[in-house]
Amino acid sequence: MNETATTRARAEIDLAALRANVRALRARASGAELMAVVKSDAYGHGAVRCAEAALEAGATWLGTATPQEALALRAAGLGGRVMCWLWTPGGPWREAIEAGIDVSVSGMWALGEVAAAATEAGVPARVQLKADTGLGRNGCQPADWPELVSAARAAEDEGLLRVTGLWSHFACADEPGHPSITPQLNVFRDMVAYAEKEGVRPEVRHMANSPATLTLPESHFDLVRTGIAMYGISPSPELGTPADFGLRPVMTLAASVALVKQVPPGHGISYGHHYTTSAETTLALVPVGYADGVPRHASGRGPVLVAGRRRTVAGRVAMDQFVVDLEGDTSAPGAEAVLFGPGDRGEPSAEDWAVAADTIAYEIVTRIGGRVPRVYVDEGGTPHAGDGRG
Ligand SMILES: *Cc1c(COP(=O)(O)O)cnc(C)c1O
Repeated sequence: MNETATTRARAEIDLAALRANVRALRARASGAELMAVVKSDAYGHGAVRCAEAALEAGATWLGTATPQEALALRAAGLGGRVMCWLWTPGGPWREAIEAGIDVSVSGMWALGEVAAAATEAGVPARVQLKADTGLGRNGCQPADWPELVSAARAAEDEGLLRVTGLWSHFACADEPGHPSITPQLNVFRDMVAYAEKEGVRPEVRHMANSPATLTLPESHFDLVRTGIAMYGISPSPELGTPADFGLRPVMTLAASVALVKQVPPGHGISYGHHYTTSAETTLALVPVGYADGVPRHASGRGPVLVAGRRRTVAGRVAMDQFVVDLEGDTSAPGAEAVLFGPGDRGEPSAEDWAVAADTIAYEIVTRIGGRVPRVYVDEGGTPHAGDGRG
């Protein structure tokens, strides 16, 4: 552990909150199993520690985007079902098959590569077929589905693979009542029915992400795939606050004030002088910047708790630091500045930063950089130094 780095800034990860969030989501999942989505280092929270905590709280699947992320979970000793869905030609199919990872297939090229890798491995692959029911991103179009299903069935008959899942993803589940939702559900049911008629016997059929888990019971099927809600963040402010869903934010981002000083009126602050002091005042220097994932786009707008009150970033967010005008209040080097957290002490939320930076809270937490150590806090309240990016 790097003491200096921990003193400068830290992302505190509350694993007890994560476990409670998993339990709250399972209670809403209509009896479906829960996949903890831990892609992109668990949205910046640390994949291995969060995956372990989620499994302890009743998650039975882990989900990642890339095969490398899935293999890293296995390398860290995590058992159970693991699925990954973002493949490119030449990917580590054989390693994934040998590690018992469920791989997603959206097209014929991928089915060909996975069958070839299974032949080499001498072990059948666990394959989940992904349907594009209207998202228009990854997944197999309805028109191409019969060809993919028939090729998958043939490979099953040859003993090269088992189709373990049929699945899809929503475009607009965070907008309840959106006209795309019911058609996507209907297309999914049709595509599942077709595959089953052709002899596919999936272990799981699944479609729901966090917003669908929270608002759309008819989408729960056998498994829900929750990411953002597990980290205690509402998928969209329009749906409600985390507290409305019984969720608690898991990440607190804090830094130690690096300098406090008096400056005269009319003093320009930070690059470009986009802020000027209006009176003699006290400035606090907060030693985190866009290299740490604090969005430069929130210059002059980002909120931060310093010296007992919420303040606003004065001027530009730089690579490593930004300035806060304490407007006559005082602070001291080493005092804590809290950018976001669950709000118990009046600190802003990741959602507040998302508003300040014209983005979504998913991006705020996921982009917190590798220079910020993750410090894990557990039920006992004992912080453990993190191992960096999980
Ligand atoms: C990221 C992702 C999820 C999780 O989405 P949340 O909105 O964070 O719950 C689920 N499924 C797929 C395919 C994803 O890429």
